[in-house]
Amino acid sequence: MPVMPRSIRILPPELQNQIAAGEVVERPSSVLKELLENSLDADAGRIQVLVDRGGQGLIQVQDDGVGILPHELELAVTRHATSKIASQEDLFNLRSFGFRGEALPSLASVSRLKLTSATSGDGEAFFIAVDAGRIMDQGPAALTRGTKVEVRDLFVNIPARLKFLKTPTTEGKRCQDVFCRLALTRLSVHFEYVVGSRTALSMPATNDLRQRLELIWPDSVTENLLPVLSSQDDMSLQGLISAPHNVQGQADRLFLYVNDRPVQDKLLLRAVRDAYQGRLLTKEYPQAALFLSMPPEEVDVNVHPAKAEVRFRNQQRVFSFVRQGVLQALERLEKHRLFRTPFADSADSAQARLFPSADFGKNLASSYSQDVRTKYKFAALREDQREFEQTPPAPPYPGLGASSSPQSARPQAGPAVPSTASESPLTRAGMLYLGQTMDSYLVLASSDGLILVDQHAAHERVLFQRLKSSVRPLPRDLLPTLEIPLHPTQQDRLQDIWAQLSKLGFRLATLRPGLLEVQGIPEHLEPHQAREFLMDVLDDQAEDLETMWTMMACKAALKAGQTLAISEALHLLEAWLECPDTSFCPHGRPIMLRLDRGDLERMFKRRG
Ligand code: ADP
Ligand code: MG
Repeated sequence: MPVMPRSIRILPPELQNQIAAGEVVERPSSVLKELLENSLDADAGRIQVLVDRGGQGLIQVQDDGVGILPHELELAVTRHATSKIASQEDLFNLRSFGFRGEALPSLASVSRLKLTSATSGDGEAFFIAVDAGRIMDQGPAALTRGTKVEVRDLFVNIPARLKFLKTPTTEGKRCQDVFCRLALTRLSVHFEYVVGSRTALSMPATNDLRQRLELIWPDSVTENLLPVLSSQDDMSLQGLISAPHNVQGQADRLFLYVNDRPVQDKLLLRAVRDAYQGRLLTKEYPQAALFLSMPPEEVDVNVHPAKAEVRFRNQQRVFSFVRQGVLQALERLEKHRLFRTPFADSADSAQARLFPSADFGKNLASSYSQDVRTKYKFAALREDQREFEQTPPAPPYPGLGASSSPQSARPQAGPAVPSTASESPLTRAGMLYLGQTMDSYLVLASSDGLILVDQHAAHERVLFQRLKSSVRPLPRDLLPTLEIPLHPTQQDRLQDIWAQLSKLGFRLATLRPGLLEVQGIPEHLEPHQAREFLMDVLDDQAEDLETMWTMMACKAALKAGQTLAISEALHLLEAWLECPDTSFCPHGRPIMLRLDRGDLERMFKRRG
């Protein structure tokens, strides 16, 4: 029997809307998002949200915006009807959240929707009620200026969709999350969120992003937010991010916006995470509310039905701009923690104000000596420090010399050293070394506090930096050579990382399958450390040099429990202070703890 062609039909509007709803309305939180965006597009000054049974019972959004004219209510629930754009030009110069004209008809096709609106303030309003896509009723109603949308019994007519919903608690949480993300885009709007009959969140109008975040995030996070503020040509990035010390194991506090539109964009997420890299442990996540602004024509928001993803014209440029902006804020904080410069303004101007002349170190040193008690107590140590600064002995541990190149000879004694005491990194940082405790921590005094440095972490940072900045190091010959038997999986892995290992300063040979001969090792590793390092990388997944530097720095760094002579400790501290990042070791653990006057006063209960 011949197969008959099937006839092509235009789908009935209800079905068209339901198909569109499949993309736009995934769950209750997507309903809330569409309704809130409409209220914001209508220039509302006050928005109230009501959510019942996780949004499956009722989602209601009421605003005091411009409203919808009575004869246009029906149009509002008709597909591809919008007041927000009229031409293609508008589409690529969007100033509104909405533009597709799909949300209300989609919603109306999968729920019982009632839309009530008033365009004047005299209490005269009109409504339209739609049940699963069919207009059921319309007529006059009572409402002061604005619009109220009620969405009941979501997905009543689509049982398949209902099955995909999680518990009302989970769906309710998603609704609240969507609400919070949008509430950050318009600080001047008063937002209220009611669950059942309880007001869960009330956010009065403000002009301070931090204030609004305080209503959403716990104090432990909001107490230490860092401002981000950078611009480049036609782009700007603004917002607040968490200090690395305050991050938490929660991944859902990363709020990103492009031209005030909340987005879950992978590129931007990666840019932020990248900036925090090396400052966080695994399972720690940055917290941020960041607003990227750029010309609308540089970004296409019409690539995702729910508009959660965007496409940038120049991805690389956006990526590095965002990463750099966050990085600068973090680095400013780290400088501040070390030097106590105010991190609110630019690092350079703060530097210039606080350290107006090159004599800064000298001034600080002399203010030390004016303090009689300090002078008396630390006189001997300070003498040591001074002596050390003038005649540095050979570095006792790898990587601790002032010079990064092992070849360049260092003057060993005498007045030949051009630097004066006031120029040493320790003095410049206003720090005085007091001693080592528990054979693990170095204790320092600064003019306004106590500093504890983790010797292993600091040395790791120094070695990492040296590894990173050194050109291909020459291997140190091993005699006798080291032999390492290999498991077949290690054998494969060895092939993959062979090139990296020789870049790191290893000279390797495979005598026969399953046996690795190590003929030369990086000069800063002892043979047993080299063996441990090789065993580690052969069992690891990492292939990038950065991770390998981290692992190698960890192996070569002096350990907790090693006694350090004063000169050794001073060498370490100076080398550490010369590193661009002094706050965290390459794994992301803190290197330094600071107790300032306020901390001590609190601990001694001198102050409440
Ligand atoms: P879009 O937002 O993409 O235009 P919608 O289906 O969400 O499409 O809304 C259709 C139209 O209904 C909007 O263009 C707008 O004119 C009107 N509208 C919807 N919600 C509101 C509201 N809260 N206040 C005023 N007008 C609204
Ligand atoms: Mg809309």
